[in-house]
Formats: sequence, C-alpha cells, structure tokens
Amino acid sequence: SILSTNTIRKTFIDYFASENHCYIKSSPVKPFNDPSLEFVNAGMNQFKNVFLGLEGIPVAKACNSQKCIRVGGKHNDLDSVGKDTYHHTFFEMLGNWSFNDYFKKEACKLAWNLITSKPYSIDPNRLYVTYFKGDDSLNLLPDLETKEIWLEIGVPKHRILPFGLKENFWEMGLHGPCGPCTEIHYDHLGSASRPHLVNKDSADLTELWNNVFVQFNRLEDGTLIPLEKHFVDTGMGLERLVALLQGKSSNYDTDSFVPYFDAIAKISGFSKYSGKFGFEDEKGLDTAYRILADHSRMVSVAIADNVFPDESHGLRRVIRKGILTAEKFSPGNGVSLMVELSKVAGESFSHIFPEVTNNLRQIEFVLRDENELWQEIKAKVKNDWENLKKDNPYLESLSDVQSKGLISSFNELKDRKLPPKSVLPADLCLIFYDRYGLNPQVIEELARVCDYFVNIPQLQKDILILKEKNKALIHTSQKLDIPKNTLEYISNHFLPTDDSFKANYTKNSD
Ligand code: ATP
Ligand code: MG
Ligand code: MG
Ligand code: MG
Repeated sequence: SILSTNTIRKTFIDYFASENHCYIKSSPVKPFNDPSLEFVNAGMNQFKNVFLGLEGIPVAKACNSQKCIRVGGKHNDLDSVGKDTYHHTFFEMLGNWSFNDYFKKEACKLAWNLITSKPYSIDPNRLYVTYFKGDDSLNLLPDLETKEIWLEIGVPKHRILPFGLKENFWEMGLHGPCGPCTEIHYDHLGSASRPHLVNKDSADLTELWNNVFVQFNRLEDGTLIPLEKHFVDTGMGLERLVALLQGKSSNYDTDSFVPYFDAIAKISGFSKYSGKFGFEDEKGLDTAYRILADHSRMVSVAIADNVFPDESHGLRRVIRKGILTAEKFSPGNGVSLMVELSKVAGESFSHIFPEVTNNLRQIEFVLRDENELWQEIKAKVKNDWENLKKDNPYLESLSDVQSKGLISSFNELKDRKLPPKSVLPADLCLIFYDRYGLNPQVIEELARVCDYFVNIPQLQKDILILKEKNKALIHTSQKLDIPKNTLEYISNHFLPTDDSFKANYTKNSD
C-alpha cells in the first residue's frame, strides 16, 4: 500500500520520538530570532542561538517538520520552481538534532536505519552517501571518520563519495557555527551504479537528506575555532521523500500536490495536469500547473504566519506570479482561483499546520488586496507602452512579472516628464525596485530605452538602506506572541490568530 504524506511525516516524527527526541512544532516562516532573514529556510534556524552558545541547550535531542521558504538570499530556488521536479518555494524539512548528545556515528545509523527499514524500506542499492573530502586552504582534514561509519553500516565503497566545501561543508553564513556534513542521495532510475550523477542537479538522482556535524565556529576574520560542544543538525525534504516512497519521479505526482491540480482542472475546465516538462510541455500548461500549485502553498503558509506583501518583497513577487499564472486558467479572475487553492492548502495542512486552516480569511483578504493594487497598475497601461515594446524586443523578452512591473514603471516615468538624457531621481528608481519589482539591471535597461541614465551605485546603496528599513519594520511588527528565545518558543508555541492580523496589516499598509 502507498504511504500518504501525513503517514510519512508521522513515521519520521514517531521514529525519532521513540529514540527519545523531543518533538518541536515548526516555527513560523517569519523568523523570530533573526531579522536579517526574510524567511525561515532550514529547520535549524530556530536553534541558531543555541549553536552559537548564546542560549542554553533546550533539550538533548529534538525533531520536527519545519516550514521552509527559499525565495531569496543564500538559498533561492524561485527560478527552478515549475521547471524541475524537486525544488519548491515552500517545502517541509524533516529534521533531527542532537545538542551535545550523540554525534556522527549515531546520526548516520539513525538516518540509515530509518530509511532502509519498514515502512519506508528504501532499496539501499539506490542510495549514495557523501562525505567531506577536506580542504587545504582551511586546514581541514578529510572526514574519514564518517566514511568509516558508512562502511561499517554496510554501504558499499563505490556508493560513498567525497565532495568539497561547496557540497559537504555546511555554513550558516559568512561566520557562525559550521561543520562537515554527510548527505544521502537517491537514484530514481534504479540500482545501477551512477555515481557521476550525484550532486549534478539531475532530476534522476536527487539529494534527499543532509546531516550536518556542527563542530566549528567561523569567526569574522575567517578562522575556524573548534566548538566546545558539538551538535547534529539534519534536514530531509519531505516532498522528495514522499515522491520516492510513492514511486514517483516528481514531487508533483504525489498526494501533496495532486489536490491542487484537481482543483485547478475542475475550476478552470482545462485539461488535466499531464506531467510534462521543458519543450515537451509545448503550451507551458503543466509548468503553469506546477507554479500555481507551488505558489499557492507558499502564499498560504506565509500569510497565515503573518507575513505581508508590504514588508516582504519575496511574498509580493510570489503572489503576483501566482495571480498571473492563475489568470491563464481563469482569465480576469485569477485571484479567485488563488483563493480557492488556499482552501486546498488549508485542507491539506489541517493536521500539521492548523494555522493555515485557521487563517483562510486572512489569506483571502491579503490576496484580494494585492490583486486590487495589481488591477490599478494594469489600468494605468497606455498604448505608448505597446509602441515602445515594438521598438525594443528586449522588453518583450523579460519575464511576465517583470514586464508587468515594467509597464507600471514606464508610466510612472512618463508622468514625471523628465528632460531627456537626465539621470533618474533616486526615489523613482526605488519605486521601480520596491513597488514594481524591477531589479537594477532591468531599471537600467528601461532607462536606456527611454533615453535616461541610472546612478547604479546610488541605487544599490538605496536598496541596502531600504532593506534595513524593511527589516526594522518586520521586527517592530512582531508584536504578537513572539518568543524571546528558543526555550520560550518551545514551551510556548506560537500561533497567529485571526483577529490580530488586521491591526497589524493596516499598520503596515499605505
Ligand atoms: P539541493 O542541492 O537539491 O538544492 P540543498 O543542498 O540546497 O538541496 P539543504 O540546504 O542541504 O538542500 O537542505 C536539506 C534538504 O532539504 C535537502 O537535502 C532537500 O531534501 C531539501 N530541500 C532543499 N531545498 C529544497 C527545495 N527548494 N524544495 C524542496 N526540498 C528542498
Ligand atoms: Mg539548493
Ligand atoms: Mg545540495
Ligand atoms: Mg544539501
């Protein structure tokens, strides 16, 4: 029988709970302890201060299924979404942690035992493991200990592969806790030996689980200091695990996504999702299905956690791309399709993330509000734009989201009636960037075709200032039940309420 997403998640939690791990509820996707981060992008985020030694160790061992979003910063998978089978904007990361308790040997054994035993029963002949091969420039020795552990566990030599800093040395950022990691990869095609596909961005052989051995603190000057305490920090993509356990080569063919596709087909009357990619997806319909389902999940989860488009550029981009994609299926009323899909999210997350189910009204409110803003922008479009585009095929070639922003930016620019060949005022460039989502390169291109100039260094500086301001805004807007530290978080689970949002939202809207 086929295991459902809910069973697969529960199996993971139950397994680690039976190994004395304390189950920790997912933290909200809006980071509660790190204003420099737009979204939580890994299960360890909520334990960052524990690793840094700034907070005491909450429990010896923990596990959870963390809501993660990767649409910006160090981890940005936005451009892959829709095009591949295994990257999402929103996904769940199953994780287990040891806080100065067990280390490499037990971590590897726990992981291997879970995935190769019942009920997961993954064929070991489809698995590869990787370990850190060392780095001379950092004076880091190869992690042969981990290699030995895998051999002892019984993984054949040819399935244990060394990789360097990029793949197998995990770092939080430029400085902070870090250490070698070991990863488990899965071959979707079969049990033949295909080590050359590991870590090569192939949909046929994908990364499944990362086990990080947090052993060092990287100082600002780059030196590595061994930590007094050691930690294990792991992350396995739930959707990827579900795909392979359900015998699917694509995450989108699992019960995590099918309900969205069914709803889209039913509401739009379009032909069903048929799983085509790239040039085989001639009309781009299946790609649109994937983007819409993915973005609906992300948008629902983020808004339910009180992230709002006015304070999150990432959320605004995903909402706009979502509505735009939904317009393909439901011309003129894409937003209502998005609202319907948020209900699918509410249903499918009801057991694990009830905050989504409980905040459907909030999600609809924000989606419709964003859509109104969007319609206003569209209403401003004038014929001049079409003429401009004819002379400048480059504009045509920009992505949909950017060209919507371009049209608005173009109109805004015209309204200013600036003398030709002048440098665009800094405030106008910021409007292009912040309100209409253009990146500096596109702003420069727009200026060029309209016979203006942009002071790019100035714009870059302004963007940084704006980001700082937004961060401050995000921080002060967290006047809900935000825990002061990890301990408080664990003992006092955060759940946004329906009523608190409106004051919050109104305050941050202009
Ligand atoms: P990849 O190399 O496939 O992009 P990663 O090395 O960036 O993955 P990690 O930062 O090691 O990923 O995160 C741990 C696990 O989370 C991965 O092994 C993978 O199973 C899962 N994961 C990472 N990014 C995504 C994503 N965008 N969508 C779904 N699952 C993901
Ligand atoms: Mg990645
Ligand atoms: Mg990787
Ligand atoms: Mg990885």
